[in-house]
Amino acid sequence: MENVGQKLKITCPSCGEDLAAPLEYEGRIRCPSCAHVFLVETFSDQSDMEEGYQEIDPHTGFWFGLIAPASLPIIVFVLASTGIFDYSSPALLGITYFMCSLCIWPVIGFGIAYSGRTFVGSFRAGARVSGVIGLFLGSLIWLVFLSWISGGITN
Ligand SMILES: [Zn+2]
Repeated sequence: MENVGQKLKITCPSCGEDLAAPLEYEGRIRCPSCAHVFLVETFSDQSDMEEGYQEIDPHTGFWFGLIAPASLPIIVFVLASTGIFDYSSPALLGITYFMCSLCIWPVIGFGIAYSGRTFVGSFRAGARVSGVIGLFLGSLIWLVFLSWISGGITN
């Protein structure tokens, strides 16, 4: 009981709090700060722990992470193409909304990716990939948009 060095350091999968358990301990443990109950396996490292407590399938998590940040520009694009913004001026308002939502895509993506332990690893990995795609795709569409705008003015 005196030997503090023989304690196993465990990170709560729910709140990220560092807990200490006896080295040989195996079984259920209750987090003192958030009351989350989880299983402790001896000699399992942090990444195994995280993997074991994912409530969703890693592939599903990745795809959700990939799609979630892109959903805003997709929704705005669908709304714009159905002409919901078209009551005042032609498509321009819808396009403006779409261009703005494109900028938010990588922001949401990287926001999720570097949110720490709030989301499961696969979801964060998907969001990071999504952020990179959003950054490239967004700047590409912006270039086309800007050349279209300048072309429209000069012509
Ligand atoms: Zn906790």
